[in-house]
Amino acid sequence: MLDLIIRNGTVVDGSGSPGFAADVGIADGKIVELGAIEQPAQNSIDARGLIVSPGFIDPHTHFDAQLLWDGRAKPSMEHGVTTVVPGNCSLSLAPLKEAHRNRLVGMFNRLKKCRSKHLKRALNGIGKHLKNLSNASSLS
Ligand SMILES: [Zn+2]
Repeated sequence: MLDLIIRNGTVVDGSGSPGFAADVGIADGKIVELGAIEQPAQNSIDARGLIVSPGFIDPHTHFDAQLLWDGRAKPSMEHGVTTVVPGNCSLSLAPLKEAHRNRLVGMFNRLKKCRSKHLKRALNGIGKHLKNLSNASSLS
């Protein structure tokens, strides 16, 4: 038995091929069947009129600080994004030289209205920043 079937959707698989009608069968967190699925599932979602696709990668985000209090990066995840790349334009909290801290904090405050307690935690070095991000994502 499958854990989940997403029925009647239009699958756009990211290969560049046109979308196609199919059910998607999921077991143990993986897609295990694609097409007209006959076997039962514990749960099903009717995706008629909707696109079913893999998650999107957002290669340019400024979630460095936000991930500390919102480990799931909402609303990005709610829009289908499953992977974010922060700091891709050089505006990143880590790694950071001591001499650049105040300037960067000012920029983040202006752009993101960041909560200062989270910014201070992030500025304690890349190792601690990554640990804080890991802790935040497991809490949300
Ligand atoms: Zn940017």
